[in-house]
Amino acid sequence: MVNITINGRQYTADEGKTILDACRAHGIRIPTLCYLEGVSEEAACSLCVVEVTGARTLVRSCVTKVTEGMDIKTATERVRQARTVVLELILANHPKDCLACYRNQNCELQSLAQELGIDSIRYPKIRKQDYDLDTSSPSIIRDANKCILCGRCIATCSKIQTVDAIQFSGRGLQSKVSTFMDAGLGKVACINCGQCVLICPTGALIERSAIKAVWKDIADPKKFVVVQTAPAIRAAIGEEFGLPEGVAVTGKMAAALRKLGFDKVFDTQFTADLTIIEEGSEFIDRVKNGGVLPMITSCSPGWIKFSEIFFPEILAHLSTCKSPQQMFGAVAKTYYAQKMGIDPRDMVVVSIMPCTAKKFEAGRPEMDSAFAYWREKMHLRGEESFPDVDYVLTTRETGRMITEAGIDFAALESEGYDDPLGKSTGAATLFGATGGVMEAALRSAYFYLTGQELPSLEFSPIRGLAGIKEATVNVAGMDVKVAVASGLGNARKLMEDVRDKKSPYHFIEIMACPGGCIGGGGQPIPTDTRLRTKRMEALYAEDQHLPQRRSHENSDVKALYDDFLKTPNGHLSHDLLHTQYRQRVY
Ligand code: SF4
Ligand code: SF4
Ligand code: SF4
Repeated sequence: MVNITINGRQYTADEGKTILDACRAHGIRIPTLCYLEGVSEEAACSLCVVEVTGARTLVRSCVTKVTEGMDIKTATERVRQARTVVLELILANHPKDCLACYRNQNCELQSLAQELGIDSIRYPKIRKQDYDLDTSSPSIIRDANKCILCGRCIATCSKIQTVDAIQFSGRGLQSKVSTFMDAGLGKVACINCGQCVLICPTGALIERSAIKAVWKDIADPKKFVVVQTAPAIRAAIGEEFGLPEGVAVTGKMAAALRKLGFDKVFDTQFTADLTIIEEGSEFIDRVKNGGVLPMITSCSPGWIKFSEIFFPEILAHLSTCKSPQQMFGAVAKTYYAQKMGIDPRDMVVVSIMPCTAKKFEAGRPEMDSAFAYWREKMHLRGEESFPDVDYVLTTRETGRMITEAGIDFAALESEGYDDPLGKSTGAATLFGATGGVMEAALRSAYFYLTGQELPSLEFSPIRGLAGIKEATVNVAGMDVKVAVASGLGNARKLMEDVRDKKSPYHFIEIMACPGGCIGGGGQPIPTDTRLRTKRMEALYAEDQHLPQRRSHENSDVKALYDDFLKTPNGHLSHDLLHTQYRQRVY
């Protein structure tokens, strides 16, 4: 520890910490724009300057370490003036169209302008060029005009996700965030995860919105519009309305969606339970019949695209199960449409997902199994093809629609989901957090292999936010070794061993986003470690309170097999619920 003085008061700080860390540890705020702890620490913006007695110039607190006896002043006239100049220079080149901006009222740049008391901008715009919007990605829109060159997106894409889809190009006034050969984000090896959107301090990166299209179909009396909600939404959407963090608002969310005008409100957790039945059967089949191991989960579309680009050698290891989102679309437009006598061409499936990569997944050309199912039965032609999932809304977009509709979310009475695609178990809820798919799978695999229920349902070694977790579970005399990774940098470490045939595991769960879907790229902004933890705890609590906690106990999933699919991994299941992967070259 070292002794330091901050604004005239004595403190101690860990030796080796930066001034910024030391001040934050003592509750003293220093503004930053580029800084992201452990990820982006390049001192690009200079907003965090402070005075240190004896130093000739102001120092940037994010890269200056505390030393014994250091005397720091964080808000002198000189410091405030320097920060104001930095911010005014940024704003001089910024569009300032806040009222029409997606990040209005949730923008770090806007908040800082207010915090620093900016009431005029003394400098002229010096950047001559206006950039076109990059709309090439199905998930993300980039507006380089609103970019302040903080570098957080580049650091996140490179260090957390190890994708490196974006980097700086040009110098001086020509500097910008760019992609390889300046091609659009949709034309390079971006895996659509949206982690860059989550940490962008401005409106330079936003999701491609489906709000207008969904409103249009809800208003169309010919359309039967059903909505499904992913497990992680219930633990986060309350934050959009200022409700307490870490509390699942499942019932209010179902009520709000009904008020928006959806004809049926269903739960992706129904098909999460279905996924466990299909994936568990696939795993047992691979173990018993010498199939490719380790088997790797396939629920996370960003992870799937990552493996298709960076690890094509391991594609045979991926479970062939589609994600719960896509299973839902296929089941809704076949089983449910048939049961209700609805023409599948009139049905619109909307997904509410914590994830921008789900927008990409819904548009994958092979995700039209319901059309393939109906083609012969209804004599459809190729040009009449329709996707299993029509639109994907993020948690943030859904919050906006609820606000646009004038719904007082906090005041809503809880409502339930509709039958039969709304029933689920606690195991399905766990899909929203890293380790949850594995935990749910183990609960059912144990039952299938031993005929008995697990004595304890919680697998603590694979709970929590650690980037890589592992456990060994004895199932019917066999030590099953499992691993869980979230964040693609962590996944990469496990996959190098799988590729080199050195992996000791039988079953691996991968989620593209740190913490899993609770930290997905479509979740409320901000999303940080504290909020990930709270959302995760909300899902664990929801699991504990549900009457059924194992996927194989879901009676409506059993009815789906009895009435329609017949058997797990059977012929119809393969047509509707399974898929294949392919190498992608950019
Ligand atoms: S990015 Fe922020 S400051 Fe810029 S226009 Fe949008 S809301 Fe306003
Ligand atoms: S796009 Fe956003 S995160 Fe990336 S450099 Fe620009 S402002 Fe920063
Ligand atoms: S969406 Fe993910 S992969 Fe694509 S640029 Fe952003 S962080 Fe990188």
